[in-house]
Amino acid sequence: MSRVLLVEDDPHLLRNMRITLHASGHEVITAATGRKALSEAAAGRPDLVVLDLGLPDLDGLEVIRSLRGWTGVPIIVLSGRASGGDKVTALDAGADDYVTKPFGVDELLARIRAVTRRAIAPEDGVPAVRIGGWSVHLADRRVSSDRGEVKLTPTEWKLLEAFVRHPGKLIGQRQLLTEVWGPVGTGDTSSLRLYLNRLRRKLEPDPSRPRHLLTEPGIGYRFLP
Ligand code: CA
Repeated sequence: MSRVLLVEDDPHLLRNMRITLHASGHEVITAATGRKALSEAAAGRPDLVVLDLGLPDLDGLEVIRSLRGWTGVPIIVLSGRASGGDKVTALDAGADDYVTKPFGVDELLARIRAVTRRAIAPEDGVPAVRIGGWSVHLADRRVSSDRGEVKLTPTEWKLLEAFVRHPGKLIGQRQLLTEVWGPVGTGDTSSLRLYLNRLRRKLEPDPSRPRHLLTEPGIGYRFLP
């Protein structure tokens, strides 16, 4: 069971989410303003924050930045705003994922599972990750199936590792560039697209309609096992 801080100023939505999360076994703390969210986060030490961006007192982005000053708690943003720019700004400020309003309960629960799941580490001896018909073995850097093995270049490996370490999670473009090419790396979004297309051609059953290595237009990428 995890403790979730729900921050939402719409009382109906807050109530519905509280009931849903409680029914899924979560302990729930709530806040209807940004200031209350910050004090509840400090006092209640939640395992996860679900944060509405449009709050009456503080902007949700300010709440994210304040939280990131002292905690790495996963943050899922609820955004009623249509523009991808706000989502990118929220991710850059330190949010982990977003759900666009209106959203279904299943979608919110899936996002919560993804951000609270521990990232896969090769030393854990975890079983291979599946992509289509392929098994990805992180520990010895092999991709195999009953048809044989597929060879990946070092950059393709780094990109694939960044994906499979965060199953189901949204990975922002900037984060992915940093994970593959380093903080002062030479990567840009066009090289990212190039390598991603190569990976899709090697691994996706139908590279033109990817089902595992997904693009969230203008925002980032997501790996669905
Ligand atoms: Ca609101």
